[in-house]
Amino acid sequence: MLAPVLTEYRKVEMLEHPAPVSTAGSVIVKVGYASICGSDQHVWNGDFHPRTKLPFVQGHEFAGEIMEVGKGVKRFKAGDRVAVDPIFWCGKCAACAKGHFPACASLKLLGIDVDGGFAPYVSAQEHMLFKVPNNVDDRIAALVEVFSIGFHACNRAGLANDDTAVIFGAGKIGQVILQAAMNRTNGDLYIVDILPERLAIARKSCPRVKTINASECDPVAAIKDLTNGRGTDVAFEAVGHYRTAISELSPVRQAVQTIRQGGTVCVLGLADDPVPLVLKELIWKEAKIVASRVTHGEFAESIDHLSKGLLNPNPLVTDIITADKIQEAFLLLEREPEKHLKILVKH
Ligand SMILES: [Zn+2]
Ligand SMILES: [Zn+2]
Repeated sequence: MLAPVLTEYRKVEMLEHPAPVSTAGSVIVKVGYASICGSDQHVWNGDFHPRTKLPFVQGHEFAGEIMEVGKGVKRFKAGDRVAVDPIFWCGKCAACAKGHFPACASLKLLGIDVDGGFAPYVSAQEHMLFKVPNNVDDRIAALVEVFSIGFHACNRAGLANDDTAVIFGAGKIGQVILQAAMNRTNGDLYIVDILPERLAIARKSCPRVKTINASECDPVAAIKDLTNGRGTDVAFEAVGHYRTAISELSPVRQAVQTIRQGGTVCVLGLADDPVPLVLKELIWKEAKIVASRVTHGEFAESIDHLSKGLLNPNPLVTDIITADKIQEAFLLLEREPEKHLKILVKH
């Protein structure tokens, strides 16, 4: 099959690549749409080296139709529309023994560790498949994985109804956390970014969110003001690599300063830079910092919410391209982050 192969870091080429074969317990999915993730940008750039073994095909956010069913597959048949949870866990490490699969010591993902959904055909195991109802179209089904990331972050943060929350970073992950949070709580929601275009997307997809432009004000002071000095119950950090703006502090430290006494900070940004923190600020609040990685069964919840119209995927999608334009798309995401958010790859 012809597929966009990452042949060296920062270089995707359309090449002939071996098509997957169905084995016992697995199916071949004909991908409808895939979506480019921030992690894909990191992989493309070489940030996941030496974990990523070149050459391979990226893409862990995708959905499609089952073409071929391997022996022993019981719940699915050819023609079923499915979203694919890209995770494999080992089942043997200390985290897996406790059922904490996202923390698996040798967690692998389709599209990061093995060939994924930027190819037209992908092999997936039965337990990774989730049926997609007819009222969720192929384009939107490709976003099930990333919305699940948002729900998982809310679970990790323990976001409860009536809790207030702030999200630092209105990029791809910040936006899906916002949409999951608007379904989880009636409490006030805030989102912080330095790009007004991203804050506009947040307001479009969640009209009740209050947006804060960190290049115009100090977000900690702004949120303290908006919450009458109390702070929010939860703060999510979805910035990763950051640029200082009005506040010189790292977004994680701003998050610690923004939460109420006893609140929670949930971190997701995948930057390599050390983050300066003053732990006293955390201890005096007897607060918590938790991390959130991938998903843990939230696919069903995302599909159900998309099917009921409770999520607004459309404002997030800025571009739809074909697979031969993926190299260009990575460059655009890097050079013009204000113009591009979710880029979908149509097969
Ligand atoms: Zn992703
Ligand atoms: Zn494990």
